[in-house]
Amino acid sequence: MLNTLIDITERKESEEKLKHYYLQLEAKNKELEQFAFIASHDLQEPLRTISSFTELLNEEYAPTFDENANKYVHFISQSANRMRHLITGLLEYSRLGSKRVLKQTDSNEILKNVIQNLHSAIKESGAVVKAKHLPVLMAYPLEMELLFQNLIGNAIKFRKKDVVVEVNITAEKTSNEWQFTFTDNGIGIDEKYFEKIFLLFQRLHSRNTHEGSGIGLSHCKKIVELHNGKIWVESKSGEGSTFYFTIPNIC
Ligand code: ADP
Repeated sequence: MLNTLIDITERKESEEKLKHYYLQLEAKNKELEQFAFIASHDLQEPLRTISSFTELLNEEYAPTFDENANKYVHFISQSANRMRHLITGLLEYSRLGSKRVLKQTDSNEILKNVIQNLHSAIKESGAVVKAKHLPVLMAYPLEMELLFQNLIGNAIKFRKKDVVVEVNITAEKTSNEWQFTFTDNGIGIDEKYFEKIFLLFQRLHSRNTHEGSGIGLSHCKKIVELHNGKIWVESKSGEGSTFYFTIPNIC
């Protein structure tokens, strides 16, 4: 009897602790998001000033520039452009989901929209996107569209040279969730980077070979977590990748 009481008390204590840690984590995440929003919002203003004065410099003084001056001004505008991309990405990241609306969402419709949005990339690369029996489920449709778009966009971006891109999408229902897979036949990812790629601004390639800012997969992670799901990848370098994510079934 005494043992049972001690057991229950201990279990209650550890549940309380867990709840406390969870609330702390949630507060920290909110704080971080707020910080990202303010920082990215405020950084836009000085960046605009740098860009517009560099433009003026170019317009009014370009004839007097020597080769070096031309090069320096070009580097400044290139970096300012890149910074604008990063700041916009950060801003979008912190805003992501703030206006989310949970709805019956047809993932076939989502895929149709995404294929339209990626029309030129798909046409240019000749990519083939195949999907079977995608479900209608309760989800945040706009966020789901961004999720599909990032995963398909990456499959096209990180394709193998001289191989036609194929993306296969599946969805399977278990007792309490939908599990989606996005499989490509691209360059693949080494196991040691499986976690790193989902972090903000983390990339495995230089901008010279693949454009990007390392934000896409952190968006995906945030979107899946807004749905209380999980996202992960399985891959082998050189042998394509499969991205998995789950969306709890709440209807
Ligand atoms: P970005 O695409 O801007 O580089 P992401 O956050 O979308 O940023 O991806 C992070 C990194 O993960 C990429 O730089 C790339 O190295 C790797 N990656 C993502 N998707 C794929 C894929 N389908 N195949 C191979 N590598 C990928």
